[in-house]
Amino acid sequence: MGSHLCEYLLKQGHEVIAMDNLLTGSINNIEHLQSERFHFIKHNVTEYIYVAGEIDYILHFASPASPMDYLKLPIQTLKVGAMGTHKALGLALEKGATFLLASTSEVYGDPLVHPQKEDYWGHVNPVGPRGVYDEAKRFAEALTMAYNRYHDVDTKIVRIFNTYGPRMRVNDGRAIPAFVPQALRGEPITVFGDGSQTRSFCYVDDLIEGIYRLLMSDTHDPVNIGNPNEMTISQLVDKILEFTGSSSTIAYKELPEDDPKIRQPDITRAKELLGWEPKVELEDGLKRTIEWFKSLPEFAS
Ligand code: UDP
Repeated sequence: MGSHLCEYLLKQGHEVIAMDNLLTGSINNIEHLQSERFHFIKHNVTEYIYVAGEIDYILHFASPASPMDYLKLPIQTLKVGAMGTHKALGLALEKGATFLLASTSEVYGDPLVHPQKEDYWGHVNPVGPRGVYDEAKRFAEALTMAYNRYHDVDTKIVRIFNTYGPRMRVNDGRAIPAFVPQALRGEPITVFGDGSQTRSFCYVDDLIEGIYRLLMSDTHDPVNIGNPNEMTISQLVDKILEFTGSSSTIAYKELPEDDPKIRQPDITRAKELLGWEPKVELEDGLKRTIEWFKSLPEFAS
């Protein structure tokens, strides 16, 4: 997501400094962006952040985001949500910059309200395996609001729902970057549980457009950005098998603990405040994503 964001910001004419410790990211994703207006600093934002000169906007996206990653990196996930957000907000205060926090639909946990609206407080298990991500992001939202109310920092909070597109890691563990390579290799598709759980997938270009509109808006309240097109995981698998022409079988695996049963964003607020709604249909987005995976050396036939 970071590389797509940098690309978009450069296209808008901004000068961009990207900061990442590359714990889960890859430098390959930003190699094509090298220019006089783009700078990369390898840094872990849980440590003090120093950047010389003026900064107008700070977008804090640092965190493992795949459930498989944050289960493997629980302490780092908590630290970046808590200490990383503190450092990034400190920098925003110092520079007089607008601050945007990348939050998540995970703040709603395994939701009891459907679809999820921003005024729903959520249903999160703080001591479950996903709690490290969910609670870190909930703390990050609270800290962001505190800097807004107490220090008058101009803050924004985007709650990002499931997103997909080119440049996801093959072994990332999330549904689409797991299923597409499995389908392309003709390997069994690993469906967790019975595949009846639902998600709503947004193509990355739509998401970035929504985030940029939020950054330029004057709202401080959280805003859901995602695609309301809800489907079961089994329906998603069927589409991927159809678009890849794969004859992979399905391998049913145990459903991970606290895996949300349903998820769909209510995007009324984004529509009203930002005039935003997603445009890319699942079929189109999936085809673009499949083509990208196919272009990787490991899938070139
Ligand atoms: N999932 C699956 N097989 C996989 C990866 C994920 O069935 O190989 C399921 C997962 O259990 C969840 C859904 O797909 O119900 C979306 O998972 P993902 O990790 O993409 O993101 P989440 O929405 O859970 O954060």
